Amino acid sequence: MLDLSTELDRIEKKGLWRTLRRLDAANTAETTIESKQQLLLSSNNYLGLATDPRLKEAAIKAINEYGTGSGGARLTTGNLHLHEELEQTIASFKKTEAALLFSSGYLANVGTISSMAGKADLILSDAYNHASIIDGCRLSKAKTVVYGHVNMDDLQNKLIENKNHRRRFIVTDGVFSMDGNIAPLPEITLLAAKHGAKVIVDDAHATSVIGENGTGTAEYFGLESCVDITIGTLSKAAGCEGGFVAASRLVIDYLRNRARTFIFQTSLSPGVVAAATTGLHIINSEPERRQILAANADFFRTELRSLGFNLVNGETPILAVIIGEAEAACQFSSRLEEEGIFAPAIRPPTVPDGESRIRATLMATHTKEHLQQAISSFEKVGKDMGVI
Ligand code: PMP
Repeated sequence: MLDLSTELDRIEKKGLWRTLRRLDAANTAETTIESKQQLLLSSNNYLGLATDPRLKEAAIKAINEYGTGSGGARLTTGNLHLHEELEQTIASFKKTEAALLFSSGYLANVGTISSMAGKADLILSDAYNHASIIDGCRLSKAKTVVYGHVNMDDLQNKLIENKNHRRRFIVTDGVFSMDGNIAPLPEITLLAAKHGAKVIVDDAHATSVIGENGTGTAEYFGLESCVDITIGTLSKAAGCEGGFVAASRLVIDYLRNRARTFIFQTSLSPGVVAAATTGLHIINSEPERRQILAANADFFRTELRSLGFNLVNGETPILAVIIGEAEAACQFSSRLEEEGIFAPAIRPPTVPDGESRIRATLMATHTKEHLQQAISSFEKVGKDMGVI
């Protein structure tokens, strides 16, 4: 007999109970959460595009023309010129031969990994990879070997220990979603070349955020030609929703024929697709948004460190402020909220035991005043709770 309440009691006792919080306004720097004004320090709307009038206008125009739903999978009746235009925009942004849209980044990872790798194959996966990568690996039935987080000696050893597979893949987040650090792509691509493995990078948090032109982790390291498959999302910096894969024409043709989360799902709705295309054009033409975002993240990170907070090393707009036990992290987050700062606690199983944290994400739309306000609140709560 299923004993759900025992399981829920166990979750609650461990301080891991999850509830939903309700935004009463758009996810902008200043917002309203459950009727209270808050400074939002936890949105992936990194560049502020989710409320940009140009994206809204593009969505409205597409809805007026094509309606609210696409009404079918891409391979049946759900393929509009809007989808093809967005795929071309993504491919030229990522400088790949082709791209393929999915309904979300989650489904892009699941569909790509589970169709590229099969029973006879090997996947080497970073210990901190996103849940959607883990699920893709499980569904693939390939032998999946997890290597220590960004531990290149471990990756090398595991490549040596696991020979004789039909295909070998190394899969990694480009920017790790809970720590905000960047995957060591120079070492990963070198090992891949040496051991005959293909490289898959999930650039959900890197797309439009890092790299000279904002195209992501491969560009950040100047290694665009060494990554075989890039997976991304339109739900974060691009301000919309949807996932994509950018790769060679061969890989994209294969995925269109084999990836179940592409084949069997209704395509993205016209409004979202049109808005995302506009979002990518703005990302290209307004690099200053990315520069302000990077400056905000640098400033916030430096200030918190100088106050004595323990931050995971990183150089992206995701800042992981380690608190320790899950309950303490939740208390820290609640105290911040009383101060008008919304930055949730991240707890196991999302992060390891004892490493519960406040995960702050910066936006280009945060002003210096916003950041000063947040820093003062971190200082007050940190001192009150004995964290600093
Ligand atoms: N990969 C990573 C690293 C992510 O953080 C996320 C979103 N949390 C996803 C994939 C999934 O993207 P989406 O929200 O578009 O499903």
